Amino acid sequence: VLGHEFVGEVVTSMEEALPLGQRVAVLSLLSDGTCRLCLSGNENLCRSRTLIGAHRAGAFAEFVVVPARSCYALPSSGGAEMGALVEPLACALHAVERGGLSADHRLAVLGAGALGLLVALEARRIGARTIAMSDPLLGRRETAIRMGATAAFDASAQNVNAQLDAVTDGEGFDVVVDAFGSTSSRRQALDLVAPGGRVVLLGLHDDVLEASGANIVLNEASLAGSFAYTHRAFARATSLASEGFLDALVEECELLSLNEGPTAFADLANGRATAPRLILMP
Ligand SMILES: [Zn+2]
Repeated sequence: VLGHEFVGEVVTSMEEALPLGQRVAVLSLLSDGTCRLCLSGNENLCRSRTLIGAHRAGAFAEFVVVPARSCYALPSSGGAEMGALVEPLACALHAVERGGLSADHRLAVLGAGALGLLVALEARRIGARTIAMSDPLLGRRETAIRMGATAAFDASAQNVNAQLDAVTDGEGFDVVVDAFGSTSSRRQALDLVAPGGRVVLLGLHDDVLEASGANIVLNEASLAGSFAYTHRAFARATSLASEGFLDALVEECELLSLNEGPTAFADLANGRATAPRLILMP
């Protein structure tokens, strides 16, 4: 059973801290909690990590069994849907942290799917000087602007790098987040980064990275992989979501019944789905 980005309500629990009816976001990347990586706060890198919805039954169902320590309480007021975006928000917060983004930075985000948009939202919260995004889909570029991007460019245009570069007057971006993860978007990210800047590799579309080693050395560019999230990032995502941080993005999502799941996946595979996230309601 798939489903690793989800919100739920406690129907049975051995933990006093999880009363029946409590609405929770669920941290779906499980770690052993005992190894050197877990104890140093890098649970996402635990060698024993497993994912709810991949290695054990996930949330495309009426009920799912999860460890109590994975449950993060959400307020019961307002819609539950935003809880389903806490998990991808945690991924985005972790990526922004990996990029060391701060208020005086110019940021480029390649890919305006949910992760890219959440990175933009967090960058706007931090107060990044510039948030330039690129995506081949017009609908997504429009959403990007509504979510706080200062400029959005067509990623399929021949001169997209020149357009992005013009935003920084040719100086390059302090941080580039590649939320797409293709061989070409990774190359693009390295072309766009300013001397001394940092590229965050977040998307996992292709395996291969083609890069000029000399370019990285001569420009002292840093490359940072970003995988999932830590408990710390998830806690912060829960708290931001509780404050209404995700409300605008939820408006852009499409709500469907669980029965419509197979059709929704077919649409995704055919590139027909434009909403940043499709949310299935069992
Ligand atoms: Zn561990």
